[in-house]
Formats: sequence, C-alpha cells, structure tokens
Amino acid sequence: MARYRDANCKLCRREGEKLFLKGTRCYSQKCAIDRRQYVPGQHGGQRMRRKISAYGLQLREKQKVRRTYGVLERQFHNYFKKADAKTGITGANLIQSLERRLDNLVYRFGFAPSRKAARQLVRHRHIVVDGGIVDIPSYQLNPGQIVRVKEKSKKLDIIHSALKMGRGEEYGWLRLNKAALEGELVEIPGRADIPLTANEQLIVELYSK
Ligand code: SF4
Repeated sequence: MARYRDANCKLCRREGEKLFLKGTRCYSQKCAIDRRQYVPGQHGGQRMRRKISAYGLQLREKQKVRRTYGVLERQFHNYFKKADAKTGITGANLIQSLERRLDNLVYRFGFAPSRKAARQLVRHRHIVVDGGIVDIPSYQLNPGQIVRVKEKSKKLDIIHSALKMGRGEEYGWLRLNKAALEGELVEIPGRADIPLTANEQLIVELYSK
C-alpha cells in the first residue's frame, strides 16, 4: 500500500503546528517546529506566511487532519463520504471514524509513541482484538471491543518506552489495563472529548464544493 515516505517534521512545518508524528521527539527541544518556524522547501526561510484564501484555509485544515491520522487522500475522502451518508453532524462523524481506527487506538492507549509506530505494530501482527490478531490499521473498533498486545510481543522496548508517556490514562472513553497491556474502547467519544485542534467544518465545506 502507498504511504508517505518523506520527513514527518516537514508536514508539521507546512501546517504551522505540532501534529505529534514522531513520539518522544515531539515533546523534546529537538522538535523541528520549535527550531525552524517557517515552511519547508528551498525558499521556505525567506517566504512570509501569506494571507490565505478561504479555499486555502479549507485545504490546510483537511491536510492537517489527514496528516495527523496518517491517512492518504483517497482513503480520507472515503471517510468523508461515509461520514456524510450517516445521520448526525458530518464533521463530527468524520473525526469519530478516524478515532475508531485500530492504529489510532493503539496510539491512544499508549502502546506506541506515534500513530506511525502504532500502524507498524498492527501491520507486524503484534496486536490482538477480541482474541484474534488484526493486522489492518484502518480496522474500525466498536464500543466494548478489547485491544491487547500479543503475549509474545509484550517485551518490545517500543511499547514500554511509549507507556512511560502515560497517554492511555488520559481519556474517559477508554479503559486501560496497563499491567496486562490491554485496553477497551468504552464508548465512541463525542467530538468535544477528542483532543484534536481542528475545524472540521472547513473540511466539510471543501468537499461539498
Ligand atoms: Fe512535528 Fe514531532 Fe517533528 Fe515536532 S518533532 S515537527 S511535533 S513530527
């Protein structure tokens, strides 16, 4: 499957804010957005941030959310179409679907330092859902489903260093058993409970043109 292979930090610098794509580095002084506050590219350092059009704002918001969750364009558009077809608020439906991805929840539980690392754990068959291995990062979880790290994988360094960041205990809609490396999606979070600074209405406007 196609995936983004260039430097992750460029994506944050392009969006002008931290997207937390690299785990512990994002919380350190090495974070590229703190050190180089200009857009990437040959002339990025000389370019002032220009006044942005309404379309530009919508586009940047879409790119920001898409890059945060590590989803490619076509797949992201499919998420939007499904969100639009559901009852309720399209923008909230969209963010909720992205939150229910297995790679995102492995990250939220704190089993991986970033969504990219979580995706790799899933791909490499380290993650079990309701007793069976699931190696599809986009797998959508429903409330009540249990995610755990496979028995043989419990000693992986990446998992233990990620757990030290203490992420899984932050959310009321997740239940984490840290000792067992197991977590449950208790309920689908409301939009206000999802820690994502984005105006999804701009994405709805972009795709509704
Ligand atoms: Fe973004 Fe993390 Fe790189 Fe900082 S270190 S620019 S937050 S990916």
